[in-house]
Amino acid sequence: MLQDKLSQIKESNDIVEVVSRHVPLKRSGRHYKALCPFHPDKEPSFYVNPERQLFKCFGCGAAGDIIAFVMKIDGLTFVDAVKELARRAGIEIGEISKSEGKTSALLAANETAAIFYGKVLFEESEGSGALDYLKKRGIPENVARKFRLGFAPDSWKALLDFAADKGVKIETLLEAGLAAEGKEGGHYDFFRNRLIFPIFDYAGKVVGFGGRVLDDSLPKYINTKETPLFRKSSILYGFNFARPKVFETRTVVVTEGYTDVMRAHEKGFTQVVATLGTALTEDHARLIRRYADSITVLFDADTAGKKATSRGVEVLLQESLNVKIAQLPAEKDLFDYLSKFSREEFEKVLASCEDIFDFSLRIAREKYDTKTVRGTSEAVDEIVSLIRMIPDKQTRDIAIDRVSLQFGVDRREVAMSVKRANAPAQRERTAPAPVTLYRDMDILDIIFTRPDLIERAREAFPPESFQDPELSEIAAAAYKIYGERGSLNTDDIFAKNENLRNRLLQVFEYGRNKGERDYEALLTGWSETCESKKIRSQLKERSHKDASALGGIKEVYERRKVTKH
Ligand SMILES: [Zn+2]
Repeated sequence: MLQDKLSQIKESNDIVEVVSRHVPLKRSGRHYKALCPFHPDKEPSFYVNPERQLFKCFGCGAAGDIIAFVMKIDGLTFVDAVKELARRAGIEIGEISKSEGKTSALLAANETAAIFYGKVLFEESEGSGALDYLKKRGIPENVARKFRLGFAPDSWKALLDFAADKGVKIETLLEAGLAAEGKEGGHYDFFRNRLIFPIFDYAGKVVGFGGRVLDDSLPKYINTKETPLFRKSSILYGFNFARPKVFETRTVVVTEGYTDVMRAHEKGFTQVVATLGTALTEDHARLIRRYADSITVLFDADTAGKKATSRGVEVLLQESLNVKIAQLPAEKDLFDYLSKFSREEFEKVLASCEDIFDFSLRIAREKYDTKTVRGTSEAVDEIVSLIRMIPDKQTRDIAIDRVSLQFGVDRREVAMSVKRANAPAQRERTAPAPVTLYRDMDILDIIFTRPDLIERAREAFPPESFQDPELSEIAAAAYKIYGERGSLNTDDIFAKNENLRNRLLQVFEYGRNKGERDYEALLTGWSETCESKKIRSQLKERSHKDASALGGIKEVYERRKVTKH
């Protein structure tokens, strides 16, 4: 695409005029704002910058130029959006080459499959057994439809034929894990004779499937293999539905299993999500951190002690999340519990959760004989491994105090073993992070607010210069897209990885909190600054940073100190 033709098309259209055909814009200083057309928006969080001809939504992260807006609002490809804008401006253009994104092909294949499985379950006779099964388990139809359940018929070719009809290529089905290759060539449906649970990403797009048998045959569950879209270790089932409530209450409840989530949502506990049979990972923790301050990990009756460590609860501490443990008093899982007990009972369970340190201290006391020196030291070791995950020093100190009080061990000894256990991980986590993160965020804020500065930004700050791998990825994508098209569209970046949307939202939020900024000066400043000096002063600035993690512990500890006197 000829760059100057593209500029000509963009200059001949006014983003304010185009946007205001879809949503009423209100002037606000140098910007216009509106309720976002791309997400349910209560406060106007959608901004249009007439000067720069850009839009940006602080609620959902949609951002870009006029081409991006037309693509998104009219559901057009880049090429078609350009054509449309050219048509409006009366500019002649030739054919533009078109490169179909692999990700969007995979998404389309998954969506096609979800539609197919849903059709079979709800409309065809082959689905009646599965419908009966759902009825027997007490899953209402509206819930099954909300979670888009489906059924894969007992056939080798049913989905293959349906997808072929809809123009989905066999290579795409293979890559999406929906079809498999036979030993003697040929292809067959991967999911057969199974109840299907589509698995959504954060935004509600189908990225994979879980399939459950209706009888006793094995394996009971199978999942889509790992694909570019489907990474089990980063997905929380139900998060797309849970997001508003999680954001509102700043709390998320994590359990296991699709049906646990479905039952919880049915009963109004829409802050409940589930891991896909994996332990909690750093990806999960980061995703949660963007919406919540607090996480409650829910365990089945009697298994909490054994499972707490295997569930990866520690990684949550690293993200400064306030971690709580709740345990079902009876029944083997949340689904059964909520089938039998009232909402109020479950509310009590959630309210009676313990913070992770109380919990771990209790478990350690049960597990080890703390009357002996050996038992005490084993118990302390176990807690120390938890304390070392806390990034914030102040919070760490409070935890150390508590362990020393609880087990009657010299505080210095506990502190020493935390330090010993800590040495490598701690250094790696804290050394360059803070300042470079500010720099990474500033540079991205510049890129998305002032694309006219992109060339300069790219020269001074190539993607490799970013410290944060995700922000680096966003920068690389932004440079690439702008370089190829002379247009910026966050959708292209998000299609690759939903986590990135969250990160970019953070950047926008960060930029907005800074108010009006002189972006040119900012870019010059970062390019010229002697970094080591900057790092030192910013580290100092950060030392009074709040200790949001384990806030509860601090309180408990304060209270204990008071009652002791
Ligand atoms: Zn929005």
